[in-house]
Amino acid sequence: MNQNIKSKNIVSNYDYIISIFSNDWRGNFPELSNFFYKKFQISSTTDTDIIDSYKFDWSNLPGNASILVRPNNIKECSIILKTCYKCNIPVTVSAGRTNLTGSATPKEGLILSTVLLRSPSIKLDINNQHVLSPVGIPLEKLRNEVLDLSNNTLFYPVNPTSRYDALVGGTLSCNASGFIPGNKGATRYWVKEIEFLLPNGNYILIQRGQYFSSNFKFIIKDEWKNIHLPIPNYKRPDIKNASGPYSSESKNIDLIDLIIGSEGIFGLIVSCKLGLLKRPKEYLNLFLRLESENEALDLYTYLYNYFDKDMSKVFALEYFGHNCQNYMNHKDFLFNSDNQVGLYIKIPIYNQSIENKSIEWFEILKNFNNKIKSEEIVVLNDKKIWNYFLKQDIQFLIMHL
Ligand SMILES: Cc1cc2nc3c(=O)[nH]c(=O)nc-3n(C[C@H](O)[C@H](O)[C@H](O)COP(=O)(O)OP(=O)(O)OC[C@H]3O[C@@H](n4cnc5c(N)ncnc54)[C@H](O)[C@@H]3O)c2cc1C
Repeated sequence: MNQNIKSKNIVSNYDYIISIFSNDWRGNFPELSNFFYKKFQISSTTDTDIIDSYKFDWSNLPGNASILVRPNNIKECSIILKTCYKCNIPVTVSAGRTNLTGSATPKEGLILSTVLLRSPSIKLDINNQHVLSPVGIPLEKLRNEVLDLSNNTLFYPVNPTSRYDALVGGTLSCNASGFIPGNKGATRYWVKEIEFLLPNGNYILIQRGQYFSSNFKFIIKDEWKNIHLPIPNYKRPDIKNASGPYSSESKNIDLIDLIIGSEGIFGLIVSCKLGLLKRPKEYLNLFLRLESENEALDLYTYLYNYFDKDMSKVFALEYFGHNCQNYMNHKDFLFNSDNQVGLYIKIPIYNQSIENKSIEWFEILKNFNNKIKSEEIVVLNDKKIWNYFLKQDIQFLIMHL
């Protein structure tokens, strides 16, 4: 287990020029912008009209910044970070800006937008079931590319609702989660490797299993000194998706786990290698009518134990509280009484037929305290029923009302 991390200066040939500039810099941001653009051709601006559109994210918190840079590659990122580090300029990393916490909202200083970070290009390793990805592309683009490149045999299972706007790097930094229950539904589980730049611009390649904390800290070495990075030791809440630095009360933690979900506070992720899953042949989609919220919770516990704590055996488990009936035009189709609640379950099918899978699941559900009768299980697989479930089939709606 290695607690000592060696970081590398990948722009050492520019050390002198960066030092000269930083020593002379007196807070003039147009000068900084010129420095980035003229010396390194880095896309950089202090134009407030352009910066204004990057000052906010989906949190709608107020923001402020003096300069915006949009680097193209890892070296440009390193130059920017190194210069800001030496000039003492706060840096805010910005991606798709869909976070809801304000973590991509700058308070002051420089915005480093990752929207142009599109290298390395996407590369699929079909045998090892992983994909190399740049951070500056929308997550859904990566997901579609994986399907194309693997001929629909593999897929990246993390599917947050924001996946069309959120960028790959943003989803790593927020540990974004999708529909799959349990830790396999969140990003952290799938990250095998990242290329990472520290706030001082130094580079680290981090592979899962390579670096582990010891005595609640990592030690990062650069050319001159050892940086002691303490890690939090509070108990992690037992929930699927939590942003903020990863922590453990007692165990040594993997450096990758610390960085995923840390919302950019430790540095910049510049590329990643993500694990993939075999794509199911099809899905069984069920909607269950249940008598109460407590019954839904009991059913969850039953399934959790049934699957030996691995809830990723289902690809979605969505709860419908009874209040949601107030917002449905087709509630009579899904519910038999105002007090009922519902559970949508998406079940992957790999080798079995849909009939066999249905029988298996009817059996599983029947054994849940003998509570669920078959008439309370709606199979949504028929295309018309599915569209109606999503309320897309007006004709069907008219016929059944
Ligand atoms: C309509 C909507 C639906 C959503 N649905 C979901 C959902 O289903 N599941 C879910 O988990 N979340 C969801 N979110 C929240 C959010 O979309 C995700 O957390 C997403 O991962 C943020 O990605 P982003 O590219 O927009 O990142 P940003 O908002 O731009 O940045 C988020 C944080 O990551 C940091 N960051 C970004 N890129 C990097 C990088 N390369 N290196 C280091 N730090 C970086 C930023 O500094 C910031 O702290 C939703 C948000 C909206 C608005």
